[in-house]
Amino acid sequence: MVCIKNAKVVLEGGIIWDGVVLVDGDRIVAAGEAGAVEIPAGAEIVDANGAYVGPGFVDIHVHGGNGYSFNKDPYEAAEHFLAHGETTILGTFYFDLGRDEYIAAAERVREAMNRGGAGDALAGIYMEGPYMNPKYGSNPQGNKWKGDICAEDYEAIVDSFGDIVRMWAIAPEREGLVPFMQYVKKVNPEAGFAFGHCEANAEEIRKVKKYGLITQTHCMDATNSVSKWFGVRGNGPDETCLADPEIYAELISDSLGVHVNSDNQRLILKAKGVDRVVLISDSVVSDEKAPDDLAHVKDLVFDSNGWLGGSKLTMDAACRNIMHHTNCGIAQAFLMASRNPAKVLGMYDEIGSIEEGKRANLVFVDDMFNVKKVMLNGKFVG
Ligand SMILES: [Zn+2]
Repeated sequence: MVCIKNAKVVLEGGIIWDGVVLVDGDRIVAAGEAGAVEIPAGAEIVDANGAYVGPGFVDIHVHGGNGYSFNKDPYEAAEHFLAHGETTILGTFYFDLGRDEYIAAAERVREAMNRGGAGDALAGIYMEGPYMNPKYGSNPQGNKWKGDICAEDYEAIVDSFGDIVRMWAIAPEREGLVPFMQYVKKVNPEAGFAFGHCEANAEEIRKVKKYGLITQTHCMDATNSVSKWFGVRGNGPDETCLADPEIYAELISDSLGVHVNSDNQRLILKAKGVDRVVLISDSVVSDEKAPDDLAHVKDLVFDSNGWLGGSKLTMDAACRNIMHHTNCGIAQAFLMASRNPAKVLGMYDEIGSIEEGKRANLVFVDDMFNVKKVMLNGKFVG
């Protein structure tokens, strides 16, 4: 039994300023005010030194970081993000991989998931593709999925690793998506869909919603609104996401607001509410040089065209950034970084909040979201 005391415990309903969390094995067994939680004799006492103790971050969309991609080195990539408090991670591939490369990459992820240690933070794969709109996103010339949607391709992919893919990003305007979506759900009923890298209108998005559409892939990033009438704003992916009360909005919050500028971050938070925004890192590994005017920004990644190609964020930094851009508080940042993504994954009964019976996945941070300690399944990391 471990007793974490002297902690500002971040619960879903608010913060307990002088709180205690009890952990037994890999589970949280109690959380509450100091004095109100009975501490069993013989419990190992851990002093949080006044840190905020919140539910571990859930990063559903992350390609890699610190030189390690989830495609090539998933275990090492997971170690990097786990050290930043990410206790649940979906490794994400790039859309310049072909069918056999996807299958080989997924095999590496599966091995990492079964290896224990940092591999326990890997909850599966977020497939950013293959059926998105190649017009949107970085490195469009590298996209191998511009042709017709072909059952032989997707059946090979889904049969090989559909069981560990928890999210598939699609462009709803593409022809022939429905049989693919149905096949995905047949193999893995728990998988969900995101719409992204697209210019679909509201009608096209709603047409596929019933097949399992849950979230928008990085809202206001790699999208376009195509209007039927000149001079009239269209209702494309961003507008549809903002207007739909059920769909979640993934948000990349970099330090300068380059992926999504400050005004738009505030707009997303206002329209969706704190219950429907999901922070993601969308962190990418790249050696390409930044354009001169952005060379001083440390958390952005560019492709060989000099186009924005993702971030170098981790979720602790994303929390810090969204507080800066939107003025939200620490407890709200935790909802967007831990609880909401857990709900998107259908894993909320296990993770995403500090509650009796849930997995003991915890992150200790100061008031600037600097990570002090991380606990994964009841064990401190590092
Ligand atoms: Zn993307």
